[in-house]
Amino acid sequence: QKFMNGLSKTSSSLVGAMDQLFASYRKIDEDFYEELEEILISADVGVATTMELIERLREEVKERKIKEPAQLQPVLIELLDQLMNGEDEVAELAQNDTGLSIYLFVGVNGVGKTTTIGKLAYRFKQEGKKVVMAAGDTFRAGAIEQLETWGKRIGVDVIKQSAGADPAAVIYDGIQAAKSRKADILLCDTAGRLQNKVNLMEELKKVYRVVAREVPGAPHEVLLVLDATTGQNALIQAKTFSEAVQVSGIVLTKLDGTAKGGIAIAVRHECKIPVKLIGLGEQADDLQVFDTTQFLHALFP
Ligand code: GDP
Repeated sequence: QKFMNGLSKTSSSLVGAMDQLFASYRKIDEDFYEELEEILISADVGVATTMELIERLREEVKERKIKEPAQLQPVLIELLDQLMNGEDEVAELAQNDTGLSIYLFVGVNGVGKTTTIGKLAYRFKQEGKKVVMAAGDTFRAGAIEQLETWGKRIGVDVIKQSAGADPAAVIYDGIQAAKSRKADILLCDTAGRLQNKVNLMEELKKVYRVVAREVPGAPHEVLLVLDATTGQNALIQAKTFSEAVQVSGIVLTKLDGTAKGGIAIAVRHECKIPVKLIGLGEQADDLQVFDTTQFLHALFP
């Protein structure tokens, strides 16, 4: 139900436009494909992904001898499903079954990193796990306090140093604290300032090295947080961050605030990184594990 509500803006605009298209064409011709292309692109499905989708749709139409636009929706959903699942269908977060699991969160300022960490900590706590959060965004004014506020609200410890401290040192402290408190999960915030991209990427690599050195097999996930309302910029950010660290999954936030939820399809297909979590609001329980079937069902109810 949350999924449905959160995606209602995208769904009503996408389905509305498609219904109109399917109703106004009697046969599937070039004009029809062109309009469908426009609809998909304006829902932020992305040019490359849209082109591929239309190409496959043409093949299916030929193969199945489909004549009427009305028959196309299920085919389109089927193709989207294939496109999004790719090779790996699993959206579950990787976990260390024998000890501490460490998740690093990366992404530019304002995308929702800190909020996502708070929500995920809440979720794990609800599952009975012991969670620690490390305030590694020592650059953005207020980021440390914001994480502490979440910590108080949900009853989870926050490890911090003062503003401006070395993020790798904060994360190191976080790991030691998590170990000595026998925590199951350590969630690490990082900075997202883009004023100096080279420095930021070097900083992330250093954080990554510290985590990998302290706990064999860690980080168990490097989650890139992307704001769904920033459209195609999200794709550029995915490329930039992937060059610095090995991103294992994407968190797509603010899907509740946009009619352009098609970005989830573009991100999944063009970045070849699975979307693992989605943000559907600002509250502690507004975080969902991503599920392609549910997502498509919410888009095309
Ligand atoms: P950070 O700079 O990446 O740590 O970003 P923040 O966590 O501070 O989030 C920036 C703003 O986005 C805050 O006002 C959050 O409440 C808001 N936000 C984060 N995730 C979501 C979401 O899924 N939906 C909505 N509507 N707002 C969100």
